[in-house]
Amino acid sequence: MIHASILVDMEPLPETTLRALRHDLDTWALNAGFDALGVADLDLAVHGPRLRAWLEGGYHGDMAYLERNLDKRLDPARLVDGVVRAVVVRMNYLPEGQNLPLSLADRERGYIARYALGRDYHKVMRRRLARLAERISAAIAPLSHGYRVFTDSAPVLERALAIKAGFGWTGRNSLVLNAEAGSWFFIGEILTDLPLPVDARRDEDQCGACHACLRVCPTDAIRDDRTIDARRCISYLTIENRGTIPLEFRSAIGNRIFGCDDCQIWCPWNRSAPHSTEPGFRPRETLDQRPLDELFALDEDGFLKLTEGTAMRRIGFEQWQRNLAVALGNAAPAPDRIALLQSRLESATPMVAEHIRWALDQLVRKNVER
Ligand code: SF4
Repeated sequence: MIHASILVDMEPLPETTLRALRHDLDTWALNAGFDALGVADLDLAVHGPRLRAWLEGGYHGDMAYLERNLDKRLDPARLVDGVVRAVVVRMNYLPEGQNLPLSLADRERGYIARYALGRDYHKVMRRRLARLAERISAAIAPLSHGYRVFTDSAPVLERALAIKAGFGWTGRNSLVLNAEAGSWFFIGEILTDLPLPVDARRDEDQCGACHACLRVCPTDAIRDDRTIDARRCISYLTIENRGTIPLEFRSAIGNRIFGCDDCQIWCPWNRSAPHSTEPGFRPRETLDQRPLDELFALDEDGFLKLTEGTAMRRIGFEQWQRNLAVALGNAAPAPDRIALLQSRLESATPMVAEHIRWALDQLVRKNVER
């Protein structure tokens, strides 16, 4: 929702008021449930050449929407009339009690990216951002406040804004890394017409000689220039990609049925990353430890019920079955599992059936090799 401003008809806010407002924002953000806040200007032109080269290289795969609105991505002021600053927030999402390497090693259970285990973050973040923006509006009343809130919902270069707002540096895995918080956090922003003082703090690149994320990426998706080849990235292959998963990546996908966290799991800056205190981000329905066979046996109603209110809903039942078929092909060749896969062949869509046949081939081959 765009909130119109009448600032043009009134006296602008004095510097002292804007500075006091900036000071109060930190407290209001914490009260709203965010873990940090920063303010950035909206000039992202410096990212233009790299973004264009990445798109021209085709590294975005089928995400054609990334090619659109390039002007708005590089200049968020074009998104909403009159906005001049981004109030950027971050919110930790890693639930407590996760043994991530163990979850990945357990080929009998599905691995779901940790951001998607709980309540859909878009809803949580948007509601809190709206509350924070309303708090700002109340503070400057009767002057009106023009703003719009975003979280992964529009052509906004969120990571670039987060770094401008002082949240850290771009890691080799392309994520925003913060020396205290690691990278397990969501980013959201309020584009506002208030000319708030910007944060000057800039964290130096602290990846140093580390290349852990490049080494552990199962599909070699991380490029030397700190961008990702989405066409190789398991998050893309299992979520954004609506079609067939290329054969060359299926074994490497292992038990990852929705997204991938490997480049975060092994990043040294995440060794002591804080956990989320948001109850909504706790895993729903033990989604962090469900057996693959049980998940694959679900019908569409079961899938919809299990994923209700989570970000996993977006992939739909067909992609869900496709991903699970691949993971089952990477699991142990138990007779019950083979029977379960065979029992779904007839009702599966052609795309899912092709993945089931691949999985059956894998399991039969493993049985022969035993
Ligand atoms: S794993 Fe190492 S290289 Fe990769 S983002 Fe983390 S610190 Fe940087």
